[in-house]
Amino acid sequence: MNNNNYNTIIIGGGAAGFFTAINLAEQSQNHKIAILERGKDVLQKVRISGGGRCNVTHAQFEPKPLSRNYPRGEKELLGPFHSFMTGDTISWFEERGVELKIEEDGRMFPISNSSQTIIDCFISLARKHKIDILTSQNVASIEKTDHWKLKTKTDTFTSNNLVVAAGSSPKV
Ligand SMILES: Cc1cc2nc3c(=O)[nH]c(=O)nc-3n(C[C@H](O)[C@H](O)[C@H](O)COP(=O)(O)OP(=O)(O)OC[C@H]3O[C@@H](n4cnc5c(N)ncnc54)[C@H](O)[C@@H]3O)c2cc1C
Repeated sequence: MNNNNYNTIIIGGGAAGFFTAINLAEQSQNHKIAILERGKDVLQKVRISGGGRCNVTHAQFEPKPLSRNYPRGEKELLGPFHSFMTGDTISWFEERGVELKIEEDGRMFPISNSSQTIIDCFISLARKHKIDILTSQNVASIEKTDHWKLKTKTDTFTSNNLVVAAGSSPKV
């Protein structure tokens, strides 16, 4: 296996990319994982989310009413909410040392009131699991043969599995 060859590559160093990479690493052994991020830094939207406090979830514990808060995703989110709900999110962070609090309107934030707590949690878990976090790597092409081949301006990467967590970027 050369240096740019992975079991799984995740395109996008946002919340979804890190959450996927960490869960995958926790569930598999000796699985080489990389996150490719086009920006100079990862988790930039998490940093500014919730006015810098990161509104992690909402104290609504029923899938249907929660899904109604997503006007363009109400139908699509109902299924996933039956697999992973608010309570799972709260436990996920609690088990990894991040306590959340509920505000009067139901919004939930880290008790630190800082999105940096969420960033620190993701980065330290990624480091613990030896996930490669590769920045300034804008994936410009994806090819599929017996494996995935991804090209950026400077490098070529190969992997057995590919996860696209590129947010709302229309290009990937
Ligand atoms: C001002 C603001 C406040 C917000 N506040 C909240 C909040 O409090 N709570 C909340 O839940 N949500 C909030 N959101 C929504 C928030 O953006 C999403 O919940 C979350 O960031 C989505 O994460 P993601 O990983 O799917 O996407 P992103 O965070 O967008 O991550 C995708 C990553 O993929 C990278 N990427 C894209 N294309 C490529 C490519 N070709 N090659 C390599 N990398 C690529 C991007 O650079 C980016 O870093 C807020 C959004 C904004 C703009």
